[in-house]
Amino acid sequence: MPTSKKNDPRTLPVLEARTATWRLHLEKTAKQFEKMGFETSVVESIEDAATLLMHTVVPACAPKTVSFGGSVSVQQSGVLDALLAHKDIEVLNTYDYSLPPEASTELRRKALTVDLYITSVNAVAETGQLVLLDGIGNRTAAVQFGPKKVVLFIGRNKLCPTLEAAMDRTRNIAGPANAMRLNRQTPCTKTGECMNCQSPERICSTWTITERSFPKGRIHLVFINEEVGF
Ligand code: SF4
Repeated sequence: MPTSKKNDPRTLPVLEARTATWRLHLEKTAKQFEKMGFETSVVESIEDAATLLMHTVVPACAPKTVSFGGSVSVQQSGVLDALLAHKDIEVLNTYDYSLPPEASTELRRKALTVDLYITSVNAVAETGQLVLLDGIGNRTAAVQFGPKKVVLFIGRNKLCPTLEAAMDRTRNIAGPANAMRLNRQTPCTKTGECMNCQSPERICSTWTITERSFPKGRIHLVFINEEVGF
């Protein structure tokens, strides 16, 4: 009687095989970015990403000031609370939505010169490009220049085969999802795809494509082998 696949010790369960395949993609992509000066890590979960940040990155760069760019991935990670509890670090909490608009803008301006800045991207091309699209531009600005160290949490769902696909993902998946999250009255919240709107509530203003970390190691990419953020 033939051995059923379920009991065959030579076969991996579907989820395990999927995770293993994703890991290969993430490791290959990480290597591509390392060639251009990025520091990289590949971890299995958002919890692992938070642990890496608190137990490896923070002790290594000993930041006196930390801040954040808008990112569901970072908010999911729990690092905000961990950093707020850190007695030697001043946290410029850009996730404090109780602040009036002027104070919030001022905090984002100050965040451009912190020691450690933590955020995410909208998409990553496996060919070696980070794609970001901002409404305000504080996150795109900080990733380009200012903070001494930048850490990006990147769920595997952000991976795309090419730059073109990464821009398409940014426009047609991340854009509508973020507009819905922010309860914006934009056409994409009805259609589920970008309509290149002229709405006053538009959340898309500034694109950046980053393909090199300068200085070397300034940007640390933490690739996460699960779906995180959008
Ligand atoms: S440009 Fe407008 S329609 Fe397109 S994703 Fe941004 S907010 Fe939505």
